[in-house]
Amino acid sequence: MNGYSRLPRVGTNIFTIMSGLATEFNAINLGQGLPDFPMEAGLIEAVSKAMRDGFNQYAPMPGWMPLREAIAQKIQGLYGFALNPGTDITITPGGTYAIYTALTAILEPGDEVIVFEPSYDSYVPNIEINYAKAVLVPLNTEDYSIPWDLVDKAIGPRTKAIVINSPHNPTGAVLSAADMQELEKRVSGKGIYIVSDEVYEHLVFDGARHESVLRYPGLAARSFACYSFGKVYNCTGWKLGYCVAPPELSAEFRKVHQFNAFSCNTPVQVGLAGFLSNRDAYLGLSSLMQSKRDYFIRGMAASRFSLKPSRGSYFICGTYERISDEADKDFAVRLTREAGVATIPVSAFYQDGTDHQVLRFCFSKKEETLDQALERLCRL
Ligand code: PMP
Ligand code: GLN
Repeated sequence: MNGYSRLPRVGTNIFTIMSGLATEFNAINLGQGLPDFPMEAGLIEAVSKAMRDGFNQYAPMPGWMPLREAIAQKIQGLYGFALNPGTDITITPGGTYAIYTALTAILEPGDEVIVFEPSYDSYVPNIEINYAKAVLVPLNTEDYSIPWDLVDKAIGPRTKAIVINSPHNPTGAVLSAADMQELEKRVSGKGIYIVSDEVYEHLVFDGARHESVLRYPGLAARSFACYSFGKVYNCTGWKLGYCVAPPELSAEFRKVHQFNAFSCNTPVQVGLAGFLSNRDAYLGLSSLMQSKRDYFIRGMAASRFSLKPSRGSYFICGTYERISDEADKDFAVRLTREAGVATIPVSAFYQDGTDHQVLRFCFSKKEETLDQALERLCRL
């Protein structure tokens, strides 16, 4: 394209690369974050029924109203926050899209957005495509917590937003109530928005609770909270999610959304609208995924990897210094090719490729998959 690119530093993303290698070398894929076990049959039936019942044309631009009503009820029950489904909730084609749309709705050229590293790979390109600047703050290396003193230094007159993500991809770190209070202190009265990536809201382990921005009215008033049904119902390929934001922010969000996707898959929305009242379907998810985490940790105890703590999400990170001193990308490629296990090198979550020689493992897999992967990983 005449040498011009809106995203000159961006290449093919790491999930595409590692899943491609996993297929090429017939490796077990603990890389890209997706479950390999069946989703709920009842939800498949509900969506199929919606299709048979004729819900096959465009849904309203902000989303199917019964689904937005069901989300409002769910959020009231979980986080004690009352929402108006007419003005505060917009259904989107996934969580990534919601984050992009939120940033595009608020950013002006030259604005700054604080992003913590390692960070999910879409945030910085989403900021830069809007001619804004990502101000990168490294998470504390020992436990991937937020260094609030560095946030103070990063906030300046051009700070438009802070992106937070809890439970955190790729590290599995989880924000605490104290973190949310620290955040509120820093943004209130400053006109700083929060883009809160909460796609793993139901994957918080060890009895902790998910600290949604929606639990904190002072934060909710300036937040775009972004969610993904793919992560809640083990159907990442359905690509449906939603954004919760106050009416004036949702109005700006919808201005962007209506000229992009415009509206989302109707039968999936209709099927989900009825399914959301089944609280067990999402309240049981943490214990299911926690048992998978623990199974993986137990199995890896016999390996030469050293795992770090994971308090939520699909992911756990580990170092491999007892096996190799290669760069993480090289090691991850070799592991896929020679040992038959695909992972994600964590340097891909740093803009400058910082390499602490850490790999991310996805444990949201059936036991049989984890067993096969563990057997191969423990041989190294
Ligand atoms: N944010 C994070 C942190 C994620 O890991 C993912 C992964 N899917 C998403 C957003 C996007 O979710 P979706 O597939 O609904 O776009
Ligand atoms: N969120 C998933 C992960 O972190 C993958 C999403 C994607 O492939 N873009 O692995």
